[in-house]
Amino acid sequence: MEKYAFVTRPDDVSFGIREEIRKRLDPAAYAEDEKNPDTVFVIGGDGTFIYAVHQYIDQLDDVRFYGIHTGTLGFYTDFEDRDFEAFMDVFLQKKWKEVYYPLLTCEAGDQTFYAINEIRIENAARSQEVDILINDEYFEKFRGTGLCICTQLGSTAYNRSLGGAVIQDGLDLIQITEIAGIHHSKCRSLDAPFVLKGDSRITLKASNFRGAVLGVDADAYPICEIGEVRIHVCECTRVRMLQGRKVSYLKKLQSLF
Ligand code: NAP
Ligand code: MN
Repeated sequence: MEKYAFVTRPDDVSFGIREEIRKRLDPAAYAEDEKNPDTVFVIGGDGTFIYAVHQYIDQLDDVRFYGIHTGTLGFYTDFEDRDFEAFMDVFLQKKWKEVYYPLLTCEAGDQTFYAINEIRIENAARSQEVDILINDEYFEKFRGTGLCICTQLGSTAYNRSLGGAVIQDGLDLIQITEIAGIHHSKCRSLDAPFVLKGDSRITLKASNFRGAVLGVDADAYPICEIGEVRIHVCECTRVRMLQGRKVSYLKKLQSLF
């Protein structure tokens, strides 16, 4: 018996698709199980996908995601609602292949966080000083509102709003972007998005992070009591995704603007 669950954006079109999927799955072969699913159907937008990954963050080795976009094209799946028949056919005939998305891990004090889009340090209350080390080598002192470290997939999200580069799919890279960096005679930093190899390890140190939050995709956590955070791509856990068709990356990018 295969088990499945849904993460659905709360709108009528998405709820309609959820009902249609339920109808198509033969109860003799498929059982709905929200707690321990094999497949999670994600119905909604890129934001819904991020939410779904975080919902099952402790079960990523056992769960695979299969998404259908309602509304616009997105980066996390290649199916739109008008492709519903193809979407179901691929699933029922098992005509998919499994693809993997990297996760960023962030160690902060005794806690570990995982992100699929980006990790951010943001201080809205005061200018934050941060020492940046890459692979344990000192790089620079940043001063400003904060920093954003994104994956290839996350490059079209917050990173893009910060003027970061869009990274084409298939490239194993991460990127550091400044959030409102201060640059004057006494205070200099790179002041440009920095694209790094995917296995780079980034350490952000501060004498204190008072007033700052750690942004992890759609969540934020206070980090006042912590002196440093370490960010790198997770070696063991990845997000498993079923891919049943391929829309060109340029088409997806065009749909953004
Ligand atoms: P959300 O409403 O779920 O997402 C905000 C927007 O970002 C939505 O339009 C969403 O697309 C889009 N998005 C999410 N991931 C994307 C990706 N990888 N590539 C392109 N677009 C993407 O907001 P949320 O739940 O607070 O935060 C989730 C993500 O939104 C964060 O990880 C962050 O990257 C992004 N965000 C961006 C800004 C900004 O650009 N200033 C501010 C806050 C958050 P859909 O409409 O398809 O869901
Ligand atoms: Mn979108």
